[in-house]
Amino acid sequence: CASAAQVQGVAADEPPVVIVHAYPDLLNLYGDGGNVTVLERRLRQRGIPVRVVRVEHGEQLSLDNADLVFLGGGPDREQRLAAEALMGQRDRLQRFVDEDGVVLAICGGYQMLGRVWLMGDEQVPGLGLVDIETRRATGDSRNRLIGDVVADCTDPAVGVLVGYENHAGRTYLGAGLSALGQVRGRVGFGNNGDDRTDGVMSGGVFGTYLHGPVLPKNPRFADLLLTRALERHARRCGRPAPILKPLDDREELAAQRFMLERLKT
Ligand code: GLN
Repeated sequence: CASAAQVQGVAADEPPVVIVHAYPDLLNLYGDGGNVTVLERRLRQRGIPVRVVRVEHGEQLSLDNADLVFLGGGPDREQRLAAEALMGQRDRLQRFVDEDGVVLAICGGYQMLGRVWLMGDEQVPGLGLVDIETRRATGDSRNRLIGDVVADCTDPAVGVLVGYENHAGRTYLGAGLSALGQVRGRVGFGNNGDDRTDGVMSGGVFGTYLHGPVLPKNPRFADLLLTRALERHARRCGRPAPILKPLDDREELAAQRFMLERLKT
């Protein structure tokens, strides 16, 4: 690991920040894998070494040197296959989370982090990494929550979040858990369409219904995740975490603004 003195300049032999992309062959709805590209690019632009490990169906997640695990969304059939693979590695994932590992999970991936989620129409046990529960809609279960979403992030440093959602499951947070954001006005449904929340933030675990992919248009959210992942990386290396240099995000924020203007929020 690099010494504290090397952190600002980042030495060539710096061990990389490791991002594990779990089951990209199953969980990649609406280009969710683009989130990993954003995380990787934002580290490289700052001269911070990064390695992305893509773990495909049939392989085991290797989390020993991981700093951030990414799980995308998926249709029911793929979500089922991914869930079977992940349930067999539940203890390892729990240890990773207990040791301040960072997780970003989108939609189907987010649902599976909870105690219970919906496999098709059937409620099944999830990974239990956060106290959330996904249920079917009351009334017509074919009634999906679809469309653009604008939410104000619970972390004021992130500000507004924009994205797109398409899900059947309704997710409810356990008492005392923080949502990732509050859905703004009438733009979007978020977790369940009832309580105007979207996603969850619990320690290093972040879940959201926002596809898009979410990070290209929400660079401050990407930096929040990277800050947490760098803190974990620095702890593993026994040195202070580097402060993230600001990047030129004019294009990303213009894309976000364009969406906000289009939706008139
Ligand atoms: N199959 C899940 C649902 O419809 C998740 C879909 C998704 O990831 N977009 O609730």
